[in-house]
Amino acid sequence: MNHAMNDATNGASDVVIVGAGPTGLTLACDLALRGLTPQILDRREAPHRESRGKALRPGSLEVFERFGVADRITDIGRSQVVFRKYFDGAHAADTPVDDACLIGQWQVEEVLRERLASLGVQVEFGAEVTGIEQDRDGVTATLADGRSLRSGYLAGCDGGRSTVRKLLGIPFEGYGGDGEQAMVVGDVRAPGLSREYWHQWFTFDGGAMMLCPIPDTDSFQLQASPETDAEGRALPPSLEGFQRLFDRHARMTGIRLTEATWLSTWRVNVRMVTRMREGRVFLAGDAAHVHPIAGGFGMNTGIEDAATLGRALGGEIPLEAYEAERLPAAAHLLADTTARMDRVMAAVATPGTGVEAVLD
Ligand SMILES: Cc1cc2nc3c(=O)[nH]c(=O)nc-3n(C[C@H](O)[C@H](O)[C@H](O)COP(=O)(O)OP(=O)(O)OC[C@H]3O[C@@H](n4cnc5c(N)ncnc54)[C@H](O)[C@@H]3O)c2cc1C
Repeated sequence: MNHAMNDATNGASDVVIVGAGPTGLTLACDLALRGLTPQILDRREAPHRESRGKALRPGSLEVFERFGVADRITDIGRSQVVFRKYFDGAHAADTPVDDACLIGQWQVEEVLRERLASLGVQVEFGAEVTGIEQDRDGVTATLADGRSLRSGYLAGCDGGRSTVRKLLGIPFEGYGGDGEQAMVVGDVRAPGLSREYWHQWFTFDGGAMMLCPIPDTDSFQLQASPETDAEGRALPPSLEGFQRLFDRHARMTGIRLTEATWLSTWRVNVRMVTRMREGRVFLAGDAAHVHPIAGGFGMNTGIEDAATLGRALGGEIPLEAYEAERLPAAAHLLADTTARMDRVMAAVATPGTGVEAVLD
């Protein structure tokens, strides 16, 4: 039985999807390919160009194979990537990155939006969901612009600060946020720096910096221990601050970082929901679980959530099976990524090791 199609009411879409990140876009493609009518909304005014999640794992590529876009993704991305590690500025080791296709998150989203458009569905930008009500027959979402949208089901794929989750009153249990260990992140150019490697500099008296080339662009994703104030609080990111950190860790005179097109601070947050469904409303991706980025699982897990939710809403598995399958997967993910993060932090101070400590 096709749950969503059977339950949609007159003139309504089968499923309203809140959030057009990798999770929402995967779900929208999956449902559209099953012949359902998704309506996908995002409060952003336009697509972003932030590298964010930048490593696709084989499970995600399998989903994209089914959508017919895996080749396009691997053409843009790069699979033969080598970590180049330096300790106190000196080259220490090179190790291959296994089992991942390196590609910027915005590039993945762009491919999925194009595929979705080819199926007749456009992302509606500038559409913020502010209210949800559900009854026996469907869900009504209220938007900030005053519109009401009726659908058979609704999926909250609206990220770590999920409005849908808050509206449902579902607890987001765990720890993290302000005051936790932080990292500055961003996208920069670094003319003169080799794009053959994912550079990782570790410094004995503290901290690390990584510059990862984003394929098919001129930019690198930067991740670094932040500069701190006199009380040890992380300072906000800036291009000038990135350069000071680069000079401190890389010690490569002559390389100037330019054009910071994305600047952000990432803080450790280890949280998950106590349930992923409330009646006709489901949660998926970061809306349901957030965790350390070590190992690169956030975007990939959201894609897997979406693929399972597509099977449930498409009637391939019972609706109950979604939470039964994905809630334990989220719990495992939180434990695993926390252990990986601890290993990275321990490895940072050891010459010749680095983030490949997470790949054991
Ligand atoms: C530096 C960094 C590196 C990372 N590296 C990796 C990696 O290598 N591999 C990996 O798998 N993951 C990685 N991640 C994590 C990854 O970016 C996230 O897990 C991923 O973005 C989650 O996708 P999502 O679609 O669930 O949520 P999001 O990408 O956060 O998308 C949610 C969307 O919902 C929209 N929205 C929010 N509220 C509303 C509302 N009320 N109404 C309408 N729309 C709304 C937002 O505008 C947004 O577009 C990294 C993250 C960072 C910051």
